[in-house]
Amino acid sequence: MFARLKKLFSIDIDSVELEDARTIPAFAGKTVFLAIILSIFVSISALLLANIFDFLPVTFSDAIAYGIAMSWLVGGSVALFISFCAWRLIRKLYLSRDEFERLSRTDTLSGLMNRRAFNDAFESVHDNASLAIFDLDRFKAINDCHGHSAGDIVIRTVANTLADSFSALHPVARLGGEEFSVIIRGGQQGDRMALVELARRKIEALTHTFEHDSVSTTVSVGVAEIVAGRRKDDIFISADRALYLAKASGRNRALHEQEMHGVQQEYRASVTFLNRDGQQGQAKAS
Ligand code: GH3
Ligand code: MG
Ligand code: MG
Repeated sequence: MFARLKKLFSIDIDSVELEDARTIPAFAGKTVFLAIILSIFVSISALLLANIFDFLPVTFSDAIAYGIAMSWLVGGSVALFISFCAWRLIRKLYLSRDEFERLSRTDTLSGLMNRRAFNDAFESVHDNASLAIFDLDRFKAINDCHGHSAGDIVIRTVANTLADSFSALHPVARLGGEEFSVIIRGGQQGDRMALVELARRKIEALTHTFEHDSVSTTVSVGVAEIVAGRRKDDIFISADRALYLAKASGRNRALHEQEMHGVQQEYRASVTFLNRDGQQGQAKAS
């Protein structure tokens, strides 16, 4: 009972209520009602005092009637005006807080989720999904040969291609530099891998055009499974290892953690074999 009364007279608003359009008239109505009650209380007290000292130019009952009418007219309209001003201010603050929150979760260069937003998305997926880490191949050479702004164009185009390749169900983020991550959800492991492979091919087929020249690039991908009970750190480390091996074994490929053993054997054999030739072995291993 007391709690209900408290809520009825309270003019507190929490952030959830701000999303509901009905909160505006409710907030204004409540403020006006409270202002009128307060105003009636103050004017009756003042009139009582004035009556005691015989200051009233009209009868006490008339003075009370005028006092109540003025409370409704003056108190009500002033409170209505102030409550709407206060409402607009609160709403503005709320919207700018929302915008600030959105910006703090967005990568400015690519418009994708940033690492912070990605971490939250990653934590919220528990099963039946794959984590794919994409890293552009030999990206530094693009910066070195065509300039940093050309590199930025490549990052943006690759980001758009990744966003187009995966539906909204699969969060895509830029982790930093020329590294991206995608959480592919649902379906079978093979279907998820096929989506990754499709995205890799799309990136391979891109031509990035700058002022005077154009360039193509490829991407290497490491993929690990998100399964119930598996620690997120371990998933990330495994995807990163697969990416490392994809790079070491020739780049421009997507490698699943479950393929790592076979590829590792192949890679070791090729390095050992090539090392007999000296220079060639070094080149493949770098
Ligand atoms: P690898 O195939 O082994 O991945 O080689 P890489 O050259 O792609 O990788 P490396 O880590 O050697 O170089 C990445 C470069 O990305 C170095 C850094 O200057 C550049 N870079 C990082 N962030 C940005 C950015 O926001 N814009 C641009 N243009 N370059 C960036
Ligand atoms: Mg790279
Ligand atoms: Mg990198």
